[in-house]
This record gives sequence, C-alpha cells and structure tokens, in this order.
Amino acid sequence: MIVAMSHTASEEDIQGMMARLRQDGYDGQINRGVERVVIGVFGTGFAPEYPETLENLPGVASVTRISKPYKLGSREFQPHDTIIDVSGVQIGSGDFVVMAGPCAVESREQVMTTAEAVAASGAHLLRGGAFKPRTSPYSFQGMGEEGLQILSEARARTGLPVITEVMEPEEVETVDRYTDVFQIGTRNMQNYPLLRRVGQMRKPVMLKRGMSATVEEWLMATEYILAEGNREVMLCERGIRSFDTTLRNTLDLAIVPMMKRLTHLPIIVDPSHATGKWYLVKPAALAAAAIGADGIIVEVHPDPDRALSDGPQSLTPANFADLMASLEPIVAATGRRLCSAVAAV
Ligand code: PEP
Ligand code: MN
Repeated sequence: MIVAMSHTASEEDIQGMMARLRQDGYDGQINRGVERVVIGVFGTGFAPEYPETLENLPGVASVTRISKPYKLGSREFQPHDTIIDVSGVQIGSGDFVVMAGPCAVESREQVMTTAEAVAASGAHLLRGGAFKPRTSPYSFQGMGEEGLQILSEARARTGLPVITEVMEPEEVETVDRYTDVFQIGTRNMQNYPLLRRVGQMRKPVMLKRGMSATVEEWLMATEYILAEGNREVMLCERGIRSFDTTLRNTLDLAIVPMMKRLTHLPIIVDPSHATGKWYLVKPAALAAAAIGADGIIVEVHPDPDRALSDGPQSLTPANFADLMASLEPIVAATGRRLCSAVAAV
C-alpha cells in the first residue's frame, strides 16, 4: 500500500502516520520526493476499510493498494528516477555511463594496462572481479583480497571508481574496504543473506539478473536490498537462458524500456556476458544505448587470447576505443550524452 502525503503535510503529519502504522503492526518506509512525501506500507492482510482509515488522517492526499509484490522498487512508490552518485558519476541521470575492465583481476600489470586504456577512451568506472563465481571449481577463482588491492591502486592511478563482485555475506566488509559499487552476479541474484547484507551497507549495489530469473523474481530480489535501507541499487540485464545455444545467453533487450516503466532504478546492460563473443559486443552495446539503457558494463583485456576468464568475449583496448567513439552519436540520437564525469585523480 502507498500513502501519498499532501503537498502541505507537515513533518508532524508524516511522523504521526509512521507512528499509526507501527501501532497497527505495519512497517513503513518514507520516500521524500521533490514534490511530496510518499510512504510505502508493508504487511499483508490489510482490512478492506484500512485505506480509508488512513486517508482520513491529517496531511494524507491518497492511499493506494499496490497489487505488485515489489513495492520500494516500483514506480508507484517513487515516480522519479533514482540517480546514484558514484564519486561524481551520476548513474540514472540520463547521461550514459560506461563501466569497463577485465572479467577477472589477473595481475597488477594486466589491471593497470587495462585501467589506463579504458580511462583514456573515456570509461567512467573500472570493473574487475577478484572473487570469481566460476562454473567449474577447477577454473581460476580470482585473486581475492590481493585483487581488490590492485583495483584500488588502479583507482588511485586513473581516478576511475571501481565495481567488483561480492559473493558471500562474510566477504562484504572486506570488499567494502576497496570498492565503490558492489556487484552481485547472476548466480547470486537470489542469495538472500547476501542481498540483505549489502542492503545494510551504505554503498551502491548493481544486481545482475539471474540467468533464468523472471522480471518479478529480479525485482523481488531487489526488494531485499531496498528493504534493508539501501536505496542505491541499479539493475543489470546480462542475458538469460533460452532454447538457443548459438550465443552464450540471449540478450533480453526489450526488457530495458519495460524495466523503465516498472521501476525507478537505473538499468545497465552487459553485452559481454549476454553474447559471449567479442565481435557482438559492439552491436549489442549500441543497441542497449539506443533502447534507453542507463549504461553498459563491458569486459576489456589487453590480451584476450591469454585471459584467464572470458577471453572470447573481451574487447581489446583498441576495440573498446572504437566502441566508445561509436556510442557517442547513438547516445546523442536518444537525446542524451555520454556521462562527462571527470576522473578525480
Ligand atoms: C561478471 O560480470 O564478472 C560476471 C561473472 O557476470 P555474470 O554474473 O553476469 O555471469
Ligand atoms: Mn566475465
């Protein structure tokens, strides 16, 4: 249920509403918009007359039942777009954001070379996994905390904020010391203890869509983070499983404008994992920009043939530079621009 307070509601009215909700055994979360305050009410089994009871309290404009199971992430709860500030990079503001870097941190040299190259081409964030969720336990599992240290050195050198994956609730504090954005991978989209834990942090989270997750499951997973109080969540479409195995995954591109209708949270597209082939990354990335994504996350490796993970889908620095140049007119054609954040070294 959503309680929209009127433009003239006082702080006392708002707090009065929160107290009443608690008294009636419900939980409420306040969303302060530019124009008015909206309160999301959580609970089940509201009596049929309950909305009207609340409507009669001071300062209330309207009370609406929400039939959707997700609340805090819904457009009903927050009509305006969420903008997430990552060290000056505004994600969801309308400007197009590019995150780029290797699939996995392999060495200091590999990360520095990649970070400097993607920064020079105009990337806004540096990606790289130190804890890798590999399908096989015998594959390279990532460098762990040493990898995180390398990423922060790259941040210091290039000024690019870092996004890196966290896989376990127990790792969250360690990763928090080094990263600017927590990435939750496709395999952990429904790892509820992990979602709750990052929800308790005060740092942005990018939640990738589970490879077989419906949109509703994805948005319900998002709700676990939001309900803990962390409102800085962005979503990432990275391809889903389908009957066809020609590509690594099937990029569900039309879901981008659909997500824009359903949720106020920014949506990023990952053309690398979605296609699995480096030569498809550029067309998929351009399509993501054209269809209105808030940004992309792309894998780049200085020597893809020798990459320890996801070489076949990694762009070389030269291919990444070409992608950045090609993105500009497409983004402009959608009435937007590439994010202009200047790296603060
Ligand atoms: C990644 O981005 O490094 C990754 C493992 O992606 P996904 O979770 O989408 O497979
Ligand atoms: Mn990868």
